[in-house]
Amino acid sequence: MEIIHSDVLVIGGGLAGLRAALAARKRGQKVIILSLVPPKRSHSAAAQGGMQASLGHTAKGAGDNEDVHFADTVRGSDWAADQEVARMFVHTAPKAVRELAAWGVPWNRVQAGPHEVIIDSQRITLNEPEAAHGLITARDFGGTRKWRTCYVSDGTGHAMLYAVSDQTIAAGIPVHERMEAVSLIHDGTRCYGAIVRNLSNGKLLAYVARATCMATGGFGRIYRSTTNAVINEGIGAAIALETGVVPLANMEAVQFHPTAIFPAGILVTEGCRGDGGLLRDVDGHRFMPDYEPEKKELASRDVVARRMEAHIRSGKGARNRFGEHLWLDITLLGEAHINGKLREVKEICQHFLGIDPAKEWIPVRPAQHYSMGGIRTDAHGAARGLRGLFACGEAACWDLHGFNRLGGNSVAETVVAGMIVGEAIADFCASAEGDMHVSTALVRDCWEQENGRFSQLAASRGGESASQLLLRMQTIMSEQVGIVRNGEALAAAVDELKALLLRSRQIGLRTSAPGANPELTTAWRLQKMLKLALCVAYGALQRTESRGAHFREDHPQRDDAHWLKRTLAYWRDAEQRVPTLEYETLDIRRMELPPGWRGYGARDAIEHPETALRLAKIEQIRSELGDTDRHTMQQALMPFRHLLPPHLRGANARLEENA
Ligand SMILES: Cc1cc2nc3c(=O)[nH]c(=O)nc-3n(C[C@H](O)[C@H](O)[C@H](O)COP(=O)(O)OP(=O)(O)OC[C@H]3O[C@@H](n4cnc5c(N)ncnc54)[C@H](O)[C@@H]3O)c2cc1C
Repeated sequence: MEIIHSDVLVIGGGLAGLRAALAARKRGQKVIILSLVPPKRSHSAAAQGGMQASLGHTAKGAGDNEDVHFADTVRGSDWAADQEVARMFVHTAPKAVRELAAWGVPWNRVQAGPHEVIIDSQRITLNEPEAAHGLITARDFGGTRKWRTCYVSDGTGHAMLYAVSDQTIAAGIPVHERMEAVSLIHDGTRCYGAIVRNLSNGKLLAYVARATCMATGGFGRIYRSTTNAVINEGIGAAIALETGVVPLANMEAVQFHPTAIFPAGILVTEGCRGDGGLLRDVDGHRFMPDYEPEKKELASRDVVARRMEAHIRSGKGARNRFGEHLWLDITLLGEAHINGKLREVKEICQHFLGIDPAKEWIPVRPAQHYSMGGIRTDAHGAARGLRGLFACGEAACWDLHGFNRLGGNSVAETVVAGMIVGEAIADFCASAEGDMHVSTALVRDCWEQENGRFSQLAASRGGESASQLLLRMQTIMSEQVGIVRNGEALAAAVDELKALLLRSRQIGLRTSAPGANPELTTAWRLQKMLKLALCVAYGALQRTESRGAHFREDHPQRDDAHWLKRTLAYWRDAEQRVPTLEYETLDIRRMELPPGWRGYGARDAIEHPETALRLAKIEQIRSELGDTDRHTMQQALMPFRHLLPPHLRGANARLEENA
């Protein structure tokens, strides 16, 4: 058994993992990064649209600040986000964008003077301020009140990931590629690293570290139709779950993106609609204003996706040989705009659909896109249940997004959380808690247990096929645990997933080759993905309300009185077939923004008895403080700065506020 030591083991080489690794390294920790693929090919590279940060440089961003970004995020989350975390995030996002600019991310820039944009299908002239010329610009994205999504054409994630990856190379942080964490080394209270499988030769190694950070991205591949890369199978979250002591939170909160090209599922960015693109039905009718007169195509993703599915159900879907879909029309933006700012979209349409989006409409239908749920952490990214385990990025439930994350808030979360959690990891390593006494016997036990599992699986000759079970699981998830849910379909889904989990123990492999063996890898991952699928489906079945992306047609109202809480899913016993669910109550008395109407969608939430009390309390604080600046007022309502590392606490400079 080979043991590799470091202070910090970061599992995942996407934006979140790389940025956390960098923060810990800069504080003197010895860090190793593990990744399934070369980091620059992580899923973060696929982010097209942009990164939210309230810089307020543009005509349409004037007046933007942390308060507006905060309110958009909390409303978007349908009040399920952790509001302290949301505050930490909006406060740090402008710093993160500027840091990335300093590292060479070629953000699109403001050009002073008049320019034409399309808003609500009208060509409008905006006048950009002289003082902002050359500063980072922003586009309309994510249903926000101000335009604040910074972008690099439609290759934002690519540009960000390359810059952050280059920084980790410059900092001398080793990346061990094609390495898969297959279980955590722990004793039930403290995490000591991970057992890792070399995907090239099949060997298992033990990585022992004082702190371990899970940054393994989302779990979209438990669905059949998803915009996620094939590596987004959620194994990081699953091995945390399998410790039995670490809970996954809000796994039922799964986001569906309205505009995945049909049928391939490849995303075309929300920037298409942000820049003025329209959704049309079989008759070419622009239907979104019929449902959402105010926000139209730019309502939040959960709302647009739901309206699209309902419109298709009402018989208005277009049809091709793969099934029903709707149309995304960006022809009105013109060739110059598409070639400049939506270049990747153009190429995707050309290569995968054989069409030119400047001339033809794009067939689209909603597909799974983002995992709001994940490893439950505190505001510093420390996982619940195991000391020494941290998580950040899409793999975590830090809980910035609640039940619906805003477009552009996710890549921003990865770097912001990386900055904050990486510091917390360094603090942990520097404290007495970071000292570690782990016996080689424990490491060997964990290694042997995992080695035994692999050998057993490689030798198994049961009658079940891993790839068929996988396909069945993905189909159930897309058809029964998708955009529109109901109790009956969810209960049936849970039953069948339970049966699939049992069947997955009877898999037969055609080859037991010890080296690179995709069949063995699929079989091994399948059981883990089934557990995640059960957390999603069972969590969705139990949550008898509709909130954000979780829509129950049998319980269509958001129910703050009973469901203002976060689902925690545990898998305490290897033999159990559904997760044990517990709930974490959200405390209205500490909320800066008590539950209310989101500004779009239905307006019929069941109110929590404490909402009115908290609103009155906020009114009282406001009138006591009277005419004070917004920062003082904010701190009085819900202090959060103490949660940030000291160097991130300072105010963000803005053109308008400086003037
Ligand atoms: C098509 C698409 C477009 C998007 N566009 C936007 C956008 O415009 N704006 C926005 O804000 N968000 C966007 N998002 C969301 C955003 O890109 C992701 O949420 C974010 O990039 C996730 O980053 P991450 O670092 O958490 O994970 P990833 O980038 O997914 O990285 C995960 C890493 O973990 C590694 N890994 C996984 N499992 C293991 C394991 N068991 N052992 C070792 N390594 C492992 C992988 O190799 C990878 O390096 C988009 C998402 C998609 C799908």
